Amino acid sequence: MSEAGKHADWMRRAELRIPGGVNSPVRAWRGVGGTPLFFERGSGAWLIDIDGRRYLDYVCSWGALILGHAHPLVTEAIQAAAARSTSFGAPTTLEVEYAELLCSIVPNLERMRLVNSGTEACMSAIRLARGATGRRKILKFDGCYHGHADSFLVRAGSGALTLGEPNSRGVTEGTAGDTLIAPYNDLAAVEQLVAAHGRDLAAIIVEPVAGNMGCIAPAQGFLAGLRRLSTASGAVLIFDEVMCGLRVAFGGAQARYGVDADLITLGKIIGGGLPLAAYGGRADLMRHIAPEGGVYQAGTLSGNPLAVSAGLAVLRHLKAHPELYDALEERSSQLARGLASAAREYALPLQVNQVGGMLCAHFSTAPVTDCASSTASDSKRFARLFHALLDHGVYLPPSAYEAWFVSLAHSAQDIERTLAAMRTVFAEIAATGS
Ligand code: PMP
Repeated sequence: MSEAGKHADWMRRAELRIPGGVNSPVRAWRGVGGTPLFFERGSGAWLIDIDGRRYLDYVCSWGALILGHAHPLVTEAIQAAAARSTSFGAPTTLEVEYAELLCSIVPNLERMRLVNSGTEACMSAIRLARGATGRRKILKFDGCYHGHADSFLVRAGSGALTLGEPNSRGVTEGTAGDTLIAPYNDLAAVEQLVAAHGRDLAAIIVEPVAGNMGCIAPAQGFLAGLRRLSTASGAVLIFDEVMCGLRVAFGGAQARYGVDADLITLGKIIGGGLPLAAYGGRADLMRHIAPEGGVYQAGTLSGNPLAVSAGLAVLRHLKAHPELYDALEERSSQLARGLASAAREYALPLQVNQVGGMLCAHFSTAPVTDCASSTASDSKRFARLFHALLDHGVYLPPSAYEAWFVSLAHSAQDIERTLAAMRTVFAEIAATGS
């Protein structure tokens, strides 16, 4: 059987039992076409597929693996924890140490709860905002993704955007009607919605650096404007930092932009690649959570010792080495600068956005600042780039609308190697004009 055949054969088996053959839609490569690769191992910045082919990985488990694949600090922590039991369903000292450490890292995180996914964190944060304010509506931004809870599947980013269906079927009109939408980076639109619905508005939820329609930085004054409008209307300001937290700065976007949120959701990096996420913030809000208060939220595996141990290993390492954030910024801006200059060299219209350890490149002549400008970019050309780079051993996210992630395991040489592959592919694209 040919090598491609091996992946296709597994995908045929997968599709019989798993919708689309995958456990999360973007993995099905619908945005770029072709048969998804099956991976067997990861090591540092590299992914190894079931044929033993190696790829420089710019997905990094969708941003979770800031230390790269199978970092010994993480794998050893997991092994040690597993030997003591995989779950207790009762308090452990690890969870307390974890909460103390995370609260010391993230601004305004006075109290927090651990959950298993970013979806759970965001869903719980809006339930809390509704419970605390007694209000119904939430305001989110077009193209932002906050997980797959019903309220968020209205003009959602990430896989929903890739599939071209930003509104999910199965979400009732009542739920969708409680979700107000504004374009990202459009403070005037938020002002209008707040003026019209302010007394019903429980929360404004935002990705302070948007990462589910590419990588989009908040415009100057945007986050501060949201802070002002939230305070004025009594709505809870939720920063969804599941992706950008501990990636755009050690303390996340609040630290980078100097704007305070009321509640913060976190995930990905804070669990070292295991299912761990958190929500928390102002102590006076968090006291509404059961059993202290009347907003219910629970989980059999919440605070799981394997996940907490992996997360602790990552957080302790990052805290002990603040210089790592300069290295991360340098690596990703090396990639961003190189991409932009390669595109100029071959006269290709390319918009490169980068904030900290996340970036994205859109084939477009216009700056990408919101969902409309992101989806106006040439996604067919992106698909061509994706497949051509695979042939050169570089694995990008399989969608034009996902952020690319650099890890601390990516070396300057890895980036140079990636850029050399990019230049080759850009030359081919420029030569054929497609
Ligand atoms: N919020 C943001 C900003 C995300 O990027 C994601 C996932 N990409 C989520 C929430 C949902 O997290 P999870 O996939 O762990 O449920």
